[in-house]
Amino acid sequence: CIDVQDLSVKRGKSLVLDQLSFQLEAGKIIGLLGPSGSGKSTLLRSIVGNQIITSGSVTALGQSAGSKSLRRKVGYMTQAASVYDDLTVRQNITYFANILGLSTDEVNRVIQGTDLAEQASRLVIDLSGGQRNRVSLAIALLGNPEIVILDEPTVGLDPVLRADLWDLFARLASTGICLVVSSHVMDEAMRCDQILLLREGKILAQLSPFELMKRTGATDPEGAFLKLI
Ligand code: ATP
Ligand code: MG
Repeated sequence: CIDVQDLSVKRGKSLVLDQLSFQLEAGKIIGLLGPSGSGKSTLLRSIVGNQIITSGSVTALGQSAGSKSLRRKVGYMTQAASVYDDLTVRQNITYFANILGLSTDEVNRVIQGTDLAEQASRLVIDLSGGQRNRVSLAIALLGNPEIVILDEPTVGLDPVLRADLWDLFARLASTGICLVVSSHVMDEAMRCDQILLLREGKILAQLSPFELMKRTGATDPEGAFLKLI
């Protein structure tokens, strides 16, 4: 569902993404892993069409990234996505639904889909970290996108809440959505179908969790990551 060819992004004099080429399949969870500053957010923005690219091409669902007809089909949760503390869950989601011209039914659908029904009338400031992240996720899911891009959606969550969120991602992927999720946490990579490993703007490897463990001979995900990076 996503096709990247020779993608480069320059910022000032430095090459933040250096000639990346890869393809991602639909209905899969793709984990984007790599050290801080390796270019994960820049790559995700390039797929969404929010990044000026220096050269190469990014195509999603057969259309050029950032094209108007594609925007509706791509949901995006930015790193440290902001929601309004002094609004309720429902008010936050409704605000974005209105911008997109979507109905109350659609608001209800994403509230149900992210297990937020019980919290719908609560102010965001009174939510737990995991619930708050789910509000951002619900907003990214508005309009039933075919591709969902999540930039570090589990940051700041304890292992139990992270696992809950990954269960939700698995549920979404099983409906045929193509999910691209960036993370620092190597354990989370094990929940993906494919891992894309970035370092200094280059792809170090694209492989399954099984292949990752096999190739490195490591006994745990963190060890495998350190061996490859
Ligand atoms: P993190 O894990 O910390 O979120 P990342 O892998 O998402 O990091 P990016 O945010 O894509 O990395 O940044 C990649 C590189 O681009 C970094 O070296 C960063 O300093 C640089 N960069 C990002 N934004 C800008 C900007 N607005 N101007 C100049 N350089 C930038
Ligand atoms: Mg980032």
